[in-house]
Amino acid sequence: MRHAQGAPAGRAGRGVSVRVVLATHNAHKVAEFQQIVARVRPDLEIVGYDGPEPVEDGVTFAENALIKARAAAAHTGLSALADDSGICVDVLGGSPGVFSAYWAGQKKDAVANLELLLDQLRDVADPHRSAHFTSTIALVTADSQEHVVAGEWPGRLAHEPSGGGGFGYDPIFIPDGQPADAERSVGDFSDDEKQSQSHRARAFDALVPLLTAL
Ligand code: IMP
Repeated sequence: MRHAQGAPAGRAGRGVSVRVVLATHNAHKVAEFQQIVARVRPDLEIVGYDGPEPVEDGVTFAENALIKARAAAAHTGLSALADDSGICVDVLGGSPGVFSAYWAGQKKDAVANLELLLDQLRDVADPHRSAHFTSTIALVTADSQEHVVAGEWPGRLAHEPSGGGGFGYDPIFIPDGQPADAERSVGDFSDDEKQSQSHRARAFDALVPLLTAL
């Protein structure tokens, strides 16, 4: 096996039966996946990937997730998971969408992305600030079977960032379903709260029945 980073302390060893590479260089995503998988399928060991990153030239989340998972499976010889995710704002026709990581330019600057999005919605009132996070996960098995699933997390955009948790657009996303007098952004959520209800967790739930392919 080449270029799959070692397991973090405490995850390798007894009871772990299947090793799966997660096709991302985003350490936040690796940590989130490890927490999600540990809740649902503790027998899977999720390892990071530091091999070559393919060009993500798909125009849908599914195309990009498959591009990443195929590249990591081919490079490591392991089964590979890849998530392609983003935030979709209704009043912007679903943008930033697949361009979420690059909304303010090619530098993948999370703070600049978030500030640009807030600026674009500066005069938009709460009832029109609906948005959702979306995650599409591709699984490419070591014997080249392919599966794609998706999950969404509905909510709305805040007017200003709040909280230091999570990553990306978390500080400006307020998920639906919270008490009206105690709404928080995902930036104010604990890791456990996020990982039990996020778009990524919902997509992974849809993937669980397909993991028998491993
Ligand atoms: P990807 O790594 O190409 O899938 O890009 C995903 C981008 O969408 C990230 O860089 C973030 O800007 C945004 N994003 C995806 N998932 C989340 C999340 O859970 N919280 C905050 N931002 C997210």
